[in-house]
Amino acid sequence: MEETVFAQKPIGDSDPWDVAIIGSGPAGLSAAIYTTRGAASTVIFGGEKWGGQLMLTTQVDNFPGFPKGIMGPELMENMKNQAIRFGGEFRPQNVTKVEAGPGGFFKLVVEEKEVLAKSVIIATGAETMWLGVDGEKELIGKGVSSCAPCDAPFFKDKKVLVVGGGDSAMEEALVLSKYATSVSIIHRKSEFKASKAMQKRVLDNKKINVVWDTQVIEIVGDQKFEKAKVKNIKTNQESEMVADGIFVAIGHKPSTEIFKGFVDLDEKGYVVKKDQGSSITAIPGIFVSGDVHDYHYKQAITAAGYGCQAGMDVLEFLSNSNLD
Ligand code: NDP
Repeated sequence: MEETVFAQKPIGDSDPWDVAIIGSGPAGLSAAIYTTRGAASTVIFGGEKWGGQLMLTTQVDNFPGFPKGIMGPELMENMKNQAIRFGGEFRPQNVTKVEAGPGGFFKLVVEEKEVLAKSVIIATGAETMWLGVDGEKELIGKGVSSCAPCDAPFFKDKKVLVVGGGDSAMEEALVLSKYATSVSIIHRKSEFKASKAMQKRVLDNKKINVVWDTQVIEIVGDQKFEKAKVKNIKTNQESEMVADGIFVAIGHKPSTEIFKGFVDLDEKGYVVKKDQGSSITAIPGIFVSGDVHDYHYKQAITAAGYGCQAGMDVLEFLSNSNLD
Protein backbone atom coordinates (compact mmCIF):
# COMPACT_ATOMS: atom_id res chain seq x y z
CA MET A 1 0.00 0.00 0.00
CA GLU A 2 1.20 3.50 -0.78
CA GLU A 3 2.80 5.43 2.11
CA THR A 4 0.71 8.41 3.10
CA VAL A 5 2.44 10.52 5.72
CA PHE A 6 0.50 13.47 7.07
CA ALA A 7 2.25 14.13 10.37
CA GLN A 8 5.93 15.02 10.60
CA LYS A 9 8.09 14.41 13.67
CA PRO A 10 9.51 17.35 15.65
CA ILE A 11 12.98 18.26 14.38
CA GLY A 12 15.03 18.14 17.57
CA ASP A 13 14.78 15.87 20.62
CA SER A 14 13.90 18.85 22.80
CA ASP A 15 11.10 20.03 20.50
CA PRO A 16 7.63 19.11 21.73
CA TRP A 17 5.35 16.66 20.01
CA ASP A 18 1.88 17.97 19.25
CA VAL A 19 0.47 14.96 21.05
CA ALA A 20 1.83 12.08 23.09
CA ILE A 21 -0.48 9.10 23.29
CA ILE A 22 0.07 6.75 26.20
CA GLY A 23 -1.30 3.29 25.46
CA SER A 24 -1.63 1.28 22.29
CA GLY A 25 -4.90 -0.62 22.48
CA PRO A 26 -7.78 0.27 20.15
CA ALA A 27 -8.26 3.62 21.95
CA GLY A 28 -4.68 4.85 21.64
CA LEU A 29 -4.17 3.65 18.08
CA SER A 30 -7.52 4.99 16.83
CA ALA A 31 -6.67 8.34 18.42
CA ALA A 32 -3.33 8.25 16.60
CA ILE A 33 -5.01 7.58 13.25
CA TYR A 34 -7.04 10.76 13.76
CA THR A 35 -4.25 12.98 15.11
CA THR A 36 -1.76 11.97 12.39
CA ARG A 37 -4.32 12.47 9.63
CA GLY A 38 -4.97 15.88 11.22
CA ALA A 39 -1.24 16.60 10.68
CA ALA A 40 -0.44 16.67 14.41
CA SER A 41 2.98 15.22 15.19
CA THR A 42 2.16 12.14 17.22
CA VAL A 43 4.21 9.82 19.39
CA ILE A 44 2.56 6.68 20.72
CA PHE A 45 4.08 5.15 23.81
CA GLY A 46 2.75 1.67 23.35
CA GLY A 47 4.26 0.14 26.45
CA GLU A 48 6.61 -2.82 26.56
CA LYS A 49 3.54 -5.08 26.34
CA TRP A 50 1.90 -3.10 23.57
CA GLY A 51 -1.55 -3.73 22.10
CA GLY A 52 -3.70 -4.03 25.23
CA GLN A 53 -6.29 -6.69 26.05
CA LEU A 54 -6.77 -7.83 22.43
CA MET A 55 -3.23 -9.21 22.39
CA LEU A 56 -4.50 -11.79 24.89
CA THR A 57 -7.58 -12.64 22.84
CA THR A 58 -7.98 -15.21 20.11
CA GLN A 59 -10.80 -14.78 17.58
CA VAL A 60 -12.57 -11.38 17.58
CA ASP A 61 -16.00 -11.66 15.97
CA ASN A 62 -17.60 -8.41 17.09
CA PHE A 63 -15.33 -5.78 15.54
CA PRO A 64 -17.06 -4.41 12.44
CA GLY A 65 -15.34 -4.84 9.10
CA PHE A 66 -14.23 -8.43 9.60
CA PRO A 67 -17.18 -10.64 8.62
CA LYS A 68 -15.14 -13.80 9.18
CA GLY A 69 -13.63 -12.51 12.42
CA ILE A 70 -9.98 -11.66 13.02
CA MET A 71 -7.43 -12.76 15.60
CA GLY A 72 -6.91 -10.14 18.33
CA PRO A 73 -3.14 -9.69 17.80
CA GLU A 74 -3.64 -9.37 14.03
CA LEU A 75 -6.28 -6.67 14.54
CA MET A 76 -3.87 -4.74 16.77
CA GLU A 77 -0.99 -5.13 14.31
CA ASN A 78 -3.29 -3.70 11.61
CA MET A 79 -4.25 -0.74 13.79
CA LYS A 80 -0.60 -0.06 14.63
CA ASN A 81 0.43 -0.15 10.98
CA GLN A 82 -2.44 2.18 10.09
CA ALA A 83 -1.30 4.73 12.69
CA ILE A 84 2.33 4.47 11.53
CA ARG A 85 1.31 4.83 7.88
CA PHE A 86 0.09 8.35 8.52
CA GLY A 87 3.29 9.39 10.31
CA GLY A 88 2.73 8.25 13.90
CA GLU A 89 5.93 7.39 15.77
CA PHE A 90 5.37 4.14 17.63
CA ARG A 91 7.62 3.45 20.61
CA PRO A 92 7.15 0.21 22.58
CA GLN A 93 8.21 1.90 25.81
CA ASN A 94 6.63 2.53 29.20
CA VAL A 95 5.98 6.06 30.41
CA THR A 96 6.78 6.27 34.11
CA LYS A 97 5.64 9.82 34.89
CA VAL A 98 3.60 12.67 33.45
CA GLU A 99 3.72 16.18 34.84
CA ALA A 100 3.57 19.84 33.88
CA GLY A 101 6.77 20.76 32.06
CA PRO A 102 8.43 23.97 30.85
CA GLY A 103 6.76 26.40 28.45
CA GLY A 104 3.23 25.13 29.12
CA PHE A 105 4.15 21.71 27.69
CA PHE A 106 3.70 18.37 29.40
CA LYS A 107 6.76 16.41 30.45
CA LEU A 108 6.74 12.64 30.10
CA VAL A 109 9.46 10.51 31.63
CA VAL A 110 10.30 7.55 29.40
CA GLU A 111 13.19 5.27 30.29
CA GLU A 112 14.71 8.09 32.35
CA LYS A 113 14.59 10.50 29.41
CA GLU A 114 12.21 13.43 29.14
CA VAL A 115 9.83 13.95 26.25
CA LEU A 116 7.77 17.12 25.82
CA ALA A 117 4.28 17.28 24.34
CA LYS A 118 1.66 19.98 23.84
CA SER A 119 -1.10 17.52 24.66
CA VAL A 120 -1.45 14.02 26.06
CA ILE A 121 -4.04 11.31 25.46
CA ILE A 122 -4.31 8.82 28.29
CA ALA A 123 -5.29 5.49 26.74
CA THR A 124 -3.69 3.05 29.15
CA GLY A 125 -6.72 0.77 29.44
CA ALA A 126 -7.87 -1.44 32.27
CA GLU A 127 -6.79 -4.93 33.12
CA THR A 128 -9.26 -7.72 33.75
CA MET A 129 -9.09 -8.97 37.32
CA TRP A 130 -8.71 -12.74 37.37
CA LEU A 131 -9.26 -15.09 40.27
CA GLY A 132 -5.61 -16.06 40.49
CA VAL A 133 -6.41 -19.70 41.25
CA ASP A 134 -4.53 -22.73 39.92
CA GLY A 135 -5.43 -23.71 36.37
CA GLU A 136 -7.02 -20.38 35.42
CA LYS A 137 -4.20 -18.71 33.49
CA GLU A 138 -3.50 -21.78 31.34
CA LEU A 139 -7.12 -22.05 30.20
CA ILE A 140 -7.87 -18.41 29.32
CA GLY A 141 -9.34 -18.54 25.83
CA LYS A 142 -9.96 -22.27 26.24
CA GLY A 143 -13.22 -22.09 28.13
CA VAL A 144 -12.11 -19.48 30.66
CA SER A 145 -13.25 -16.01 29.57
CA SER A 146 -13.96 -12.55 30.90
CA CYS A 147 -16.13 -11.30 28.04
CA ALA A 148 -19.59 -12.74 27.43
CA PRO A 149 -20.44 -10.33 24.58
CA CYS A 150 -17.33 -11.71 22.80
CA ASP A 151 -17.58 -15.41 23.62
CA ALA A 152 -21.21 -16.23 24.51
CA PRO A 153 -22.07 -17.57 21.01
CA PHE A 154 -19.48 -20.33 21.51
CA PHE A 155 -21.64 -21.62 24.37
CA LYS A 156 -24.88 -22.27 22.52
CA ASP A 157 -26.77 -25.09 24.24
CA LYS A 158 -23.94 -25.49 26.76
CA LYS A 159 -23.63 -25.11 30.50
CA VAL A 160 -21.63 -22.20 31.88
CA LEU A 161 -20.48 -20.71 35.17
CA VAL A 162 -20.10 -17.02 36.01
CA VAL A 163 -18.05 -15.76 38.96
CA GLY A 164 -18.85 -12.45 40.70
CA GLY A 165 -21.65 -10.52 42.30
CA GLY A 166 -21.48 -7.07 40.74
CA ASP A 167 -23.23 -5.57 37.72
CA SER A 168 -20.66 -7.10 35.37
CA ALA A 169 -21.45 -10.61 36.59
CA MET A 170 -25.19 -9.92 36.20
CA GLU A 171 -24.66 -8.66 32.68
CA GLU A 172 -22.43 -11.57 31.70
CA ALA A 173 -24.99 -14.05 33.06
CA LEU A 174 -27.85 -12.36 31.18
CA VAL A 175 -25.92 -12.35 27.89
CA LEU A 176 -24.94 -16.00 28.36
CA SER A 177 -28.52 -17.03 29.20
CA LYS A 178 -29.48 -16.20 25.60
CA TYR A 179 -27.23 -19.02 24.36
CA ALA A 180 -26.49 -21.46 27.16
CA THR A 181 -28.92 -24.01 28.54
CA SER A 182 -27.97 -23.08 32.09
CA VAL A 183 -25.91 -20.41 33.81
CA SER A 184 -24.72 -20.77 37.41
CA ILE A 185 -23.44 -17.65 39.13
CA ILE A 186 -20.91 -18.44 41.83
CA HIS A 187 -20.76 -15.64 44.38
CA ARG A 188 -18.69 -15.48 47.56
CA LYS A 189 -21.36 -13.69 49.60
CA SER A 190 -25.03 -14.32 50.40
CA GLU A 191 -26.13 -11.18 48.57
CA PHE A 192 -25.14 -9.46 45.37
CA LYS A 193 -23.33 -6.16 45.14
CA ALA A 194 -25.09 -5.42 41.82
CA SER A 195 -27.87 -2.84 41.42
CA LYS A 196 -31.34 -4.01 42.43
CA ALA A 197 -32.60 -3.70 38.86
CA MET A 198 -29.86 -5.98 37.48
CA GLN A 199 -30.32 -8.44 40.34
CA LYS A 200 -34.03 -8.68 39.60
CA ARG A 201 -33.41 -9.45 35.92
CA VAL A 202 -31.01 -12.20 36.91
CA LEU A 203 -33.12 -13.69 39.68
CA ASP A 204 -36.20 -13.67 37.42
CA ASN A 205 -34.35 -15.53 34.66
CA LYS A 206 -35.23 -19.22 34.75
CA LYS A 207 -31.99 -20.29 33.08
CA ILE A 208 -29.86 -18.65 35.78
CA ASN A 209 -29.26 -20.07 39.25
CA VAL A 210 -27.02 -18.71 42.00
CA VAL A 211 -24.57 -20.60 44.18
CA TRP A 212 -24.14 -18.32 47.22
CA ASP A 213 -21.30 -18.09 49.73
CA THR A 214 -19.00 -19.97 47.43
CA GLN A 215 -15.51 -19.36 46.17
CA VAL A 216 -13.72 -20.95 43.24
CA ILE A 217 -10.54 -22.56 44.54
CA GLU A 218 -9.23 -24.24 41.37
CA ILE A 219 -9.94 -24.45 37.67
CA VAL A 220 -9.46 -27.84 36.10
CA GLY A 221 -9.15 -28.93 32.49
CA ASP A 222 -6.85 -30.69 30.08
CA GLN A 223 -6.53 -28.38 27.03
CA LYS A 224 -9.95 -26.87 27.80
CA PHE A 225 -12.05 -25.99 30.83
CA GLU A 226 -13.78 -28.98 32.40
CA LYS A 227 -14.77 -28.04 35.93
CA ALA A 228 -14.31 -25.64 38.82
CA LYS A 229 -13.42 -26.79 42.30
CA VAL A 230 -15.39 -24.66 44.74
CA LYS A 231 -15.68 -24.21 48.48
CA ASN A 232 -18.63 -23.05 50.53
CA ILE A 233 -17.10 -20.43 52.79
CA LYS A 234 -19.66 -20.95 55.55
CA THR A 235 -19.39 -24.74 55.80
CA ASN A 236 -15.91 -25.16 54.28
CA GLN A 237 -17.36 -27.98 52.20
CA GLU A 238 -15.61 -28.48 48.87
CA SER A 239 -17.27 -29.71 45.68
CA GLU A 240 -16.88 -29.62 41.91
CA MET A 241 -18.98 -27.86 39.28
CA VAL A 242 -18.74 -29.36 35.82
CA ALA A 243 -19.51 -27.05 32.89
CA ASP A 244 -18.37 -26.10 29.38
CA GLY A 245 -17.04 -22.67 30.29
CA ILE A 246 -16.46 -20.23 33.11
CA PHE A 247 -16.72 -16.43 32.91
CA VAL A 248 -14.81 -14.41 35.47
CA ALA A 249 -16.55 -11.09 36.12
CA ILE A 250 -15.01 -9.74 39.31
CA GLY A 251 -13.99 -6.31 38.06
CA HIS A 252 -11.24 -4.45 36.24
CA LYS A 253 -8.25 -2.45 37.35
CA PRO A 254 -7.55 0.71 35.36
CA SER A 255 -3.87 1.26 34.58
CA THR A 256 -3.48 4.70 36.09
CA GLU A 257 -0.68 4.36 38.64
CA ILE A 258 1.56 6.83 36.75
CA PHE A 259 -1.08 9.57 36.78
CA LYS A 260 -1.74 9.54 40.54
CA GLY A 261 -1.38 13.01 42.02
CA PHE A 262 -1.51 14.72 38.63
CA VAL A 263 -4.77 13.71 36.94
CA ASP A 264 -8.10 13.33 38.80
CA LEU A 265 -8.92 9.68 39.43
CA ASP A 266 -12.09 8.27 40.99
CA GLU A 267 -12.13 5.95 44.00
CA LYS A 268 -11.52 2.93 41.77
CA GLY A 269 -8.66 4.60 39.91
CA TYR A 270 -10.52 5.43 36.66
CA VAL A 271 -9.65 8.79 35.06
CA VAL A 272 -12.36 11.38 35.66
CA LYS A 273 -13.55 13.37 32.66
CA LYS A 274 -14.57 17.00 32.96
CA ASP A 275 -17.43 16.56 30.59
CA GLN A 276 -19.09 13.20 29.83
CA GLY A 277 -19.67 14.09 26.19
CA SER A 278 -16.00 14.57 25.35
CA SER A 279 -12.55 13.27 26.24
CA ILE A 280 -11.56 16.45 28.11
CA THR A 281 -10.19 16.16 31.66
CA ALA A 282 -9.86 18.92 34.27
CA ILE A 283 -6.34 19.67 32.96
CA PRO A 284 -6.42 21.54 29.61
CA GLY A 285 -4.37 19.52 27.13
CA ILE A 286 -4.84 16.17 28.90
CA PHE A 287 -7.42 13.92 27.25
CA VAL A 288 -8.64 10.44 28.06
CA SER A 289 -9.95 7.62 25.97
CA GLY A 290 -10.93 3.95 26.21
CA ASP A 291 -11.28 1.52 29.10
CA VAL A 292 -9.18 3.68 31.42
CA HIS A 293 -12.26 5.86 31.92
CA ASP A 294 -14.98 3.46 30.79
CA TYR A 295 -16.11 1.08 33.53
CA HIS A 296 -19.16 -0.01 31.61
CA TYR A 297 -18.78 -1.06 27.96
CA LYS A 298 -15.12 -2.09 27.74
CA GLN A 299 -15.31 -3.30 24.15
CA ALA A 300 -12.68 -2.90 21.44
CA ILE A 301 -15.14 -0.98 19.30
CA THR A 302 -16.16 1.43 22.08
CA ALA A 303 -12.49 2.00 22.92
CA ALA A 304 -11.80 2.73 19.24
CA GLY A 305 -14.75 5.17 19.22
CA TYR A 306 -13.41 6.92 22.31
CA GLY A 307 -10.03 7.08 20.58
CA CYS A 308 -11.58 8.88 17.63
CA GLN A 309 -13.25 11.30 20.04
CA ALA A 310 -9.96 12.05 21.85
CA GLY A 311 -8.10 12.48 18.55
CA MET A 312 -10.63 15.03 17.37
CA ASP A 313 -10.65 16.84 20.73
CA VAL A 314 -6.85 17.10 20.60
CA LEU A 315 -6.90 18.56 17.08
CA GLU A 316 -9.39 21.19 18.24
CA PHE A 317 -7.29 21.94 21.32
CA LEU A 318 -4.13 22.36 19.21
CA SER A 319 -5.81 24.63 16.71
CA ASN A 320 -7.02 26.90 19.54
CA SER A 321 -3.82 26.85 21.58
CA ASN A 322 -0.92 29.27 21.23
CA LEU A 323 1.76 26.76 22.21
CA ASP A 324 4.77 26.78 19.84
P1 NDP B 1 -17.60 -4.63 41.10
O1 NDP B 1 -16.35 -4.22 41.80
O2 NDP B 1 -18.82 -3.80 41.26
O3 NDP B 1 -18.01 -6.11 41.58
C1 NDP B 1 -17.07 -7.13 41.63
C2 NDP B 1 -17.74 -8.37 42.19
O4 NDP B 1 -16.81 -9.43 42.11
C3 NDP B 1 -18.17 -8.23 43.64
O5 NDP B 1 -19.38 -8.88 43.84
C4 NDP B 1 -17.03 -8.92 44.38
O6 NDP B 1 -17.45 -9.58 45.55
C5 NDP B 1 -16.60 -9.97 43.41
N1 NDP B 1 -15.20 -10.28 43.57
C6 NDP B 1 -14.13 -9.44 43.59
N2 NDP B 1 -12.99 -10.12 43.72
C7 NDP B 1 -13.33 -11.43 43.80
C8 NDP B 1 -12.59 -12.61 43.95
N3 NDP B 1 -11.26 -12.60 44.03
N4 NDP B 1 -13.27 -13.78 44.01
C9 NDP B 1 -14.61 -13.81 43.91
N5 NDP B 1 -15.38 -12.70 43.77
C10 NDP B 1 -14.74 -11.52 43.71
O7 NDP B 1 -17.16 -4.82 39.60
P2 NDP B 1 -18.08 -4.86 38.28
O8 NDP B 1 -17.14 -5.13 37.18
O9 NDP B 1 -19.21 -5.76 38.47
O10 NDP B 1 -18.64 -3.38 38.14
C11 NDP B 1 -17.74 -2.27 38.11
C12 NDP B 1 -18.56 -0.99 37.95
O11 NDP B 1 -19.16 -0.99 36.65
C13 NDP B 1 -19.67 -0.85 38.96
O12 NDP B 1 -19.77 0.49 39.33
C14 NDP B 1 -20.90 -1.29 38.19
O13 NDP B 1 -22.09 -0.70 38.69
C15 NDP B 1 -20.57 -0.82 36.78
N6 NDP B 1 -21.25 -1.63 35.76
C16 NDP B 1 -22.50 -1.26 35.38
C17 NDP B 1 -23.21 -2.01 34.47
C18 NDP B 1 -24.59 -1.61 34.10
O14 NDP B 1 -25.06 -0.64 34.63
N7 NDP B 1 -25.24 -2.32 33.22
C19 NDP B 1 -22.62 -3.22 33.85
C20 NDP B 1 -21.31 -3.53 34.34
C21 NDP B 1 -20.67 -2.77 35.26
P3 NDP B 1 -18.02 -8.80 46.84
O15 NDP B 1 -19.46 -8.54 46.53
O16 NDP B 1 -17.78 -9.77 47.92
O17 NDP B 1 -17.20 -7.54 46.95
